[in-house]
Amino acid sequence: MQSTTRKIVILGTGGTIAGASSSATDNVGYKAGQLSVQSLVGAIPALASLPLEAEQLAQLDSKDMDHGTWTRLAHRVQALVDREDVQGVVITHGTDTLEETAYVLQRVLAPTKPVVLTAAMRPATAVQADGPQNLLDAVALAGTSGVQGVVAVVAGQVWSGLELRKQHTYRLDAFTAGADAGPLGVIEEGHVRQFRAWPAGTPLGLAVLPAPGKAWPWVAVLASHAGIEARALNAWQAAGLEGLVLACTGNGTWHQSLEAPLQALKDQGVPVWRTTRCAQGPIVGAPNEKGAALSPWAARIELMLTLLQARG
Ligand code: ASP
Repeated sequence: MQSTTRKIVILGTGGTIAGASSSATDNVGYKAGQLSVQSLVGAIPALASLPLEAEQLAQLDSKDMDHGTWTRLAHRVQALVDREDVQGVVITHGTDTLEETAYVLQRVLAPTKPVVLTAAMRPATAVQADGPQNLLDAVALAGTSGVQGVVAVVAGQVWSGLELRKQHTYRLDAFTAGADAGPLGVIEEGHVRQFRAWPAGTPLGLAVLPAPGKAWPWVAVLASHAGIEARALNAWQAAGLEGLVLACTGNGTWHQSLEAPLQALKDQGVPVWRTTRCAQGPIVGAPNEKGAALSPWAARIELMLTLLQARG
């Protein structure tokens, strides 16, 4: 399965893939982030003969992911991909914010080695746990020559770190590319069948990230909806909001009652980016508008990175 003899390093961050329940038939009433990454690896005999290292970077339910953990993760991944003896990195993660972690890592690091995130929709204790196969697939992908960039592998499909979105609450194949593109490839019995190019680009570099302990800019997502109250936005402005991503209705519109508070933000120099709350499609007619083709969550990261670059 592995085409090189260099090491693959597996970083554990928690999630359902490391989750445990008191009942093997309970697929929802479990606690994420309970088992060590070493025990996840140890449960897969096929991994025993491979040159692997496993390291626990964090142990959390990814619904609680935070900017400080992203900073630590980005620094650790960079240090690993810089190592001559490392072929690739695998990150075990929760599905809830997988797309956010993948996006930030690709934009900051744009690694030329594979950095493969993987996850599970069922806890490790489940009758039909999907974590072991996903981890096996992730290691196979990370060990395949020519793969590069931040990608995610779940249920045999390989997603771009810049595109993936969790689209289902329960199904094992919970991810899409959010638009019309589909996966980058599939992984079958340890072999990759590639459809599209791996993620590439110029990395922003670790220097863009705030020093450990320093705050990231406060950028929030607000969805426009029927009956929305302008005072929500007024309160955020008064509290010091530094950037806003609007999850617009349809092709980039918002409720008329948001006009005044949005103008007040703009007058104060607070950037406001449009995205759509539709599950699929960009804002059509806005090809040069930053964020308009991204999910609200990816756009939030992109806006934070833009503000961080401006901080210098
Ligand atoms: N809440 C879990 C997490 O994101 C869900 C999962 O991993 O599927 O950590």
